[in-house]
Amino acid sequence: MVSKSNIERDLRALMAVPGLCGHEGRVRSHLAAALQSEGLQTTTDRLGNLITTIEGDPSAPTVMLFTHMDQLGFVVRKIESDGFVRVERVGGVPERALASQPVLFQIGEGRDRHGVIANKSHHATRPDEKYQVVPYQEIYIDTGLDSATAVRAAGIEIGTPVVYKPHVLDLAPDRIAGTAVDDRAGCAVLVETARHLSAGGSRPTVHVVFSVQEEFNLRGALTAAQALQPDIAIQLDLLLTGDTPDMRDRTEVVLGGGPGISLYSFHGRGTLNGTIPHPALVKLFSDAAGRGDQPLQRSAQTGVLTETSYIQLVGSGVATIDVGFPCRYTHSSLEVCDLNDLVGLAQLLLTALPMIDGGFSLDRDDYEQ
Ligand SMILES: [Zn+2]
Repeated sequence: MVSKSNIERDLRALMAVPGLCGHEGRVRSHLAAALQSEGLQTTTDRLGNLITTIEGDPSAPTVMLFTHMDQLGFVVRKIESDGFVRVERVGGVPERALASQPVLFQIGEGRDRHGVIANKSHHATRPDEKYQVVPYQEIYIDTGLDSATAVRAAGIEIGTPVVYKPHVLDLAPDRIAGTAVDDRAGCAVLVETARHLSAGGSRPTVHVVFSVQEEFNLRGALTAAQALQPDIAIQLDLLLTGDTPDMRDRTEVVLGGGPGISLYSFHGRGTLNGTIPHPALVKLFSDAAGRGDQPLQRSAQTGVLTETSYIQLVGSGVATIDVGFPCRYTHSSLEVCDLNDLVGLAQLLLTALPMIDGGFSLDRDDYEQ
């Protein structure tokens, strides 16, 4: 049985660990320790992806089951002489949700420093400024230190990673808000799934991968895919929800409605990529949901891109699909998820994966009419 308390414990712990893109070391250590305590040996590739392989039926297609461990944020760009810190963005930070946010300078365990993203004193804010969003280039961070010398002495330098101050906020029972739900929730689900897969039973060979640098360029997982050469890649991440007043026309996905699959993703602006999932995997997850009498939400979105866009092009092609959990207020410091959706996602995976056996076809002609 999938354990909600395991997932909740892992999620809360993982949300508390800072791990900006390219600086995931502490998250990786935490995940490696969690896997090793389940008897799973891990390796790390040169980019930082954490990999563990659970051997299974050699006649079945191999699976890479993955989720990203990094989070978005900033790096220090400039330190003003009076100690204020300017930053460059890393990933898609929502500029209108930055003012007055507490942040953490990820310097080293026990040496991290806090800062505040400044918001101009309200009493002095002109009417024309009140409804303006300050571009990230103009924001500055107050560390409480009054000089560049003091800031540097504290360990803050050009290139120092900065993330939202890690925190977890309990909302209604089973609803959690906080930092890096994207994609520590995926990590918590993947740890629980690996726990159950490693316990035995029929299964294909599953390479469990916690990938890096997703929020940066969406290609961190590529090195793992190139090395592992899987037949199938299944990615876990958030699904946008349409159950808030500002998102109603966007999607039918709702928080608490269970896990889902993406039928289409596409991102134009410069990337020109997306994922149309392999029909065998759409059928697999539909069948698995039916077999387990589980809900399965469906998502189709532009403006969304995942690593599967790149992984599907590895070798002579990898059959891919994105599966996920509903998440509100994405990329803000208060992303909201529902623990029951995470439990459902782990259950869905544990129903679907054993259905990938020696007879599982990836021949498109078997599916496409
Ligand atoms: Zn993500």
